[in-house]
Amino acid sequence: MRVLVVGARPTGLTAGVELARQGVEVDVIDKRNAASTWSRAVGIQPLSLELLQASGVSDALLSEGTKFHSAKLYRNQSLLTNLPFAVPGEDISFVLGLAQDRTETHLRDALEKFGGRVHYGLELLKLEQTDKFVSVLLDRQEQALSKVEFDYVIGADGTTSTVRDQIGIAFPGFDLPGQWSIADVDAEYWTHPDAFTLCQVDRGNVAIVAPLEENRYRVIATAPDALATLPLRMDVTNVRRAGAFSISIRMAETYQKGRVFLAGDAAHCHSPVGGRGMNLGIADAADLAQRLVDGTGEGYSKHRRAAGKEIIGKSEQARKVITSTNPVIRLGTYVTLKCRSSDLI
Ligand SMILES: Cc1cc2nc3c(=O)[nH]c(=O)nc-3n(C[C@H](O)[C@H](O)[C@H](O)COP(=O)(O)OP(=O)(O)OC[C@H]3O[C@@H](n4cnc5c(N)ncnc54)[C@H](O)[C@@H]3O)c2cc1C
Repeated sequence: MRVLVVGARPTGLTAGVELARQGVEVDVIDKRNAASTWSRAVGIQPLSLELLQASGVSDALLSEGTKFHSAKLYRNQSLLTNLPFAVPGEDISFVLGLAQDRTETHLRDALEKFGGRVHYGLELLKLEQTDKFVSVLLDRQEQALSKVEFDYVIGADGTTSTVRDQIGIAFPGFDLPGQWSIADVDAEYWTHPDAFTLCQVDRGNVAIVAPLEENRYRVIATAPDALATLPLRMDVTNVRRAGAFSISIRMAETYQKGRVFLAGDAAHCHSPVGGRGMNLGIADAADLAQRLVDGTGEGYSKHRRAAGKEIIGKSEQARKVITSTNPVIRLGTYVTLKCRSSDLI
């Protein structure tokens, strides 16, 4: 069996690792010329660690990441409460914090250990399938186009997925109004270097701070300037990168057409509230890889769409409560987060 994975970020790399680990010939391609050093996701959920255990990736992540056992909840400058990440009845009490580019480095190392490789600078342009194989047209920069055949193709190529477009799968949903922002900063002083912090500020805005490493933090806000939205003191010495982004809530109408599958952001996208996007992609990829190995790929779409629907529903519910301009609804933040504390970044 020969599989092409399009996209070499958390979802595609996980699919590559899990297939290569089980002896499948897999090629992972990405149109970028090199690995990204820009991290979006920070929180790695215990389920992702469990799924990446067999490959040895979990041990690598645990050796570098920081275990966060709780989140602090603020209303402007007032600390309201400390929310533990414990799941009742389960032996889960932490979220692992690690910059996404580091998570991807460990996945790539594992892929190479199992004999796979990421081909950077290789873009999928077109895709056609028969009931026996999938034929793809690839563009290697400054080289001739190549047409190659695979048994299966996995589209892990993000929200603007070419694979999804090529097989004509709709991506219904809606776009949230306004812009959110992100800043990756070095700071000499921050109140909670060992916890995630969520600050509710005026007009329904929220700022979230996640420690990345010693004196390095990720700030995400529901307004266009992340640092300006943060109501607490942070002594920033360097802004490594800052930017604004918009949010869409969407899900592919199916995750499979014939021999072509979608996983990760190519299949679903939602707000960063709950920090589930990357984790959902890792779970899609692990499930799909196992199904391709077992020959049960047909059940993938139904199973993972149900999981995606549930997570997106929870994330949206939490986003609406946390960012509500209605003070009565906002009062539900503590209860919402307490119920979903293991989902919170
Ligand atoms: C601000 C922010 C914070 C977030 N925080 C968290 C968090 O704490 N926890 C969490 O779980 N999630 C978080 N997320 C979500 C998470 O970052 C994404 O869900 C995750 O990156 C999706 O990974 P992916 O591999 O599916 O897709 P992507 O990361 O979008 O990667 C797709 C890859 O495909 C490549 N590609 C695209 N088209 C082609 C083509 N035609 N040919 C070849 N290659 C192609 C691209 O170059 C890219 O490298 C956050 C998101 C944002 C925006």
